[in-house]
Amino acid sequence: MPARKRYQHGCAEGMRVGRFNLGINTTFIVYRIGDTLFDTGPSNQWPEVARFIAEQPIRQLLITHHHEDHSANAAAIAAQYGLTPYAPTQALNKLRDGYPTPWIQQLLWGKPKPVVTQAFPAHLQLADGSPIIPVHTPGHARDLTCFHLPQQGYLFSGDLYLSKSIRYFRIDEDLSQLMASLRTVLRLDFDTLLCPHRGPVEQGHRALQTKLDNMRQLCSHAQSLQQQGLPLAQIVKRLLGKEDMMAYLSGHNFCKTNLVRSALQVTDLS
Ligand SMILES: [Zn+2]
Repeated sequence: MPARKRYQHGCAEGMRVGRFNLGINTTFIVYRIGDTLFDTGPSNQWPEVARFIAEQPIRQLLITHHHEDHSANAAAIAAQYGLTPYAPTQALNKLRDGYPTPWIQQLLWGKPKPVVTQAFPAHLQLADGSPIIPVHTPGHARDLTCFHLPQQGYLFSGDLYLSKSIRYFRIDEDLSQLMASLRTVLRLDFDTLLCPHRGPVEQGHRALQTKLDNMRQLCSHAQSLQQQGLPLAQIVKRLLGKEDMMAYLSGHNFCKTNLVRSALQVTDLS
């Protein structure tokens, strides 16, 4: 059964969509404040997303990163509202040219749709003039950019948060960068995370600090097991349990071994 759920947090509205309602990894929340839209939802949910957006026409679309659950409706939105979406500079070529995705992602989200986007301007703001500050936070993806709204106390976190403790990693994720990005956003002032998978998270600072602490702990455990001579597969099994369906379904694009392999390379455990 498809996922449909509305959210309201202060001035932020959200709509959760998804072809399969199998938890936060298979569903996505499109957020809006007034005429500003944050990410687009996946292409196989376009009719539902289009209805949500049509409730109040939008002036600008901000994309956190190129992954298809975040960006794949950008082309349709750009055509419908006559706008050029804003996206991180590292994403512009991928978004314009398209990119291949594994079959499991195509089943969950549909295919990415190529779209012409533009880099963030020097000043971004909501309709009321309050600032939106893009903060580059690589690690989950090279282009991942969060949006800090200091006046509202919000951080639109893209895929920086997801959960206080993660067990799987994409093959192209980098835990050193991800931990550095967590330290970057922890220096900002905000109360609430607006996570497109988890939903609004109150006490967002504490949630991100807990994630950083958990990642640091995973790194030190993994590194001490390696020093004791354990091979990678044994370290994975000891810390996160055996690989499961997720690894097989994704062809090891998304698995526990990727996370531990990256944890063994982290040198800054601050
Ligand atoms: Zn992502």
